[in-house]
Order: sequence, then C-alpha cells, then structure tokens
Amino acid sequence: MSYPGSAYIKAICRALECRPQAVYIIDCPLCPEDEQGQMELDPQTKTYWCADCGRDGTLQSLLAIAEGLFVSRHRESMELMERRPRVERGGTRR
Ligand SMILES: [Zn+2]
Repeated sequence: MSYPGSAYIKAICRALECRPQAVYIIDCPLCPEDEQGQMELDPQTKTYWCADCGRDGTLQSLLAIAEGLFVSRHRESMELMERRPRVERGGTRR
C-alpha cells in the first residue's frame, strides 16, 4: 500500500509526537540528542534528509524508524500496563 508523501509525514510526526516546524522540517530524530539538526521531509520525492548527520532515505523507512523510536520511548509505560493484571492477581507479590 502506498501513501502520498504528506501522509507519511503526518504519520512520522505522530509517532515522534512532534509537529513540523516549518513546512516539512522536523527536529532530526537520528542526530545525537545534544546536537540535534533539522531534518527536511520532501513529500514530492518521499524522501528525508538531514544536513547535520547526513542521513537520508525514504519516508517509508523513516516512518519505520519513527515507530521504532515511539515503541522504545513508551516501552516502560507499556510494560506497566501489561504488568497491572498480574499485580491484581498476585496480590502481595512485589
Ligand atoms: Zn540528523
């Protein structure tokens, strides 16, 4: 299934929980945190490019990266949610 480039960008931004700052420029999720550059997203060519870390590729692959980051960022709260039923059942165990 193929989406228009702008749909990828929306999905990427949703996963990264950010809004595009300019037209399609976001804080680069691939740069080191202390020197985060600006990543350009191009809906026409469906590619991304960061001048700071030099990474580029397709929006589709960036979406996979963004979703992976989303999962790792929320893993802790997801694990808590998974653990909750066990806590109720287990009672005093801690
Ligand atoms: Zn970068």
